[in-house]
Amino acid sequence: MLRGRAALVTGSTSGIGLGIARALAAGGADVMLNGFGDPAEIERTRAGLAEECGTTVRFCAADVAKPAEITLLIAETARAFGGVDILVNNAGIQHVAPVEDFAPDRWDAIIAINLSANFHTIREALPHMKRRGWGRIINIASAHGIVASPYKAAYVAAKHGVVGLTKVVALETATTAITCNAICPGWVLTPLVQKQIDDLAREEGIAAAEAERRLLSEKQPSLAFVTPEQLGACAVFLCSEGAAQIRGAALAIDGGWTAQ
Ligand code: NAD
Repeated sequence: MLRGRAALVTGSTSGIGLGIARALAAGGADVMLNGFGDPAEIERTRAGLAEECGTTVRFCAADVAKPAEITLLIAETARAFGGVDILVNNAGIQHVAPVEDFAPDRWDAIIAINLSANFHTIREALPHMKRRGWGRIINIASAHGIVASPYKAAYVAAKHGVVGLTKVVALETATTAITCNAICPGWVLTPLVQKQIDDLAREEGIAAAEAERRLLSEKQPSLAFVTPEQLGACAVFLCSEGAAQIRGAALAIDGGWTAQ
């Protein structure tokens, strides 16, 4: 279904981004990976994906906190694949602290990576989508784009911003074959969440399994983690013709978190 489409997934060296990149490549898309990590491990992932899916998979190490590097990332994707048809804004970080103790540099970093990067990639990718007359923009927001939790001021502000930005871009592209939507996952067991589980276990003096159970039972009625594979399947669906009139949606995939 996605053969001949050029996809860029930011923050795809791990976790959700890698799950989405894998699903898009399995669907036939050429994929530009992006993110940080051990170069040898990233190269293994890149080569493995290309081999497994029979598509072209490239990697660009751009830091999406830096608009100039986003310009290079979009240009590199367009140069490698002839365009940018699918943009998945996924790179993200977390920091947890009460608002009066929240380090200003952590606020700035979260807003830059989790929110402003989406603006810059969209701004630069849209002309490529318009040129080829088709596009899909998928922003990975969060349940925290819909509701809040304490101690996550920057993250919640950024993710609510992502949902707002998604709606604006969807309206501006409404009469075109380009759609823009947000996916709002609940808890997914990735390095970003593992760190929060480890912190909780340390602070409370409990085992990691107990911290995991507490994390889920506090927010996620299904008591099960969402998986990167489920989010990848949703992204592939959003790229299908069946999803052509889903525009400006914030799709909760959260085990019931935001239904409460
Ligand atoms: P992760 O830590 O496993 O992956 C984050 C990815 O972003 C990595 O590839 C990392 O290298 C990359 N990255 C970080 N800073 C970057 C930068 N400045 N430039 C380029 N790449 C950068 O995290 P994850 O849990 O897979 O999170 C992915 C996205 O999903 C984030 O936007 C996160 O907010 C969102 N999310 C995660 C959960 C969850 O429960 N894990 C829930 C809701 C939303």
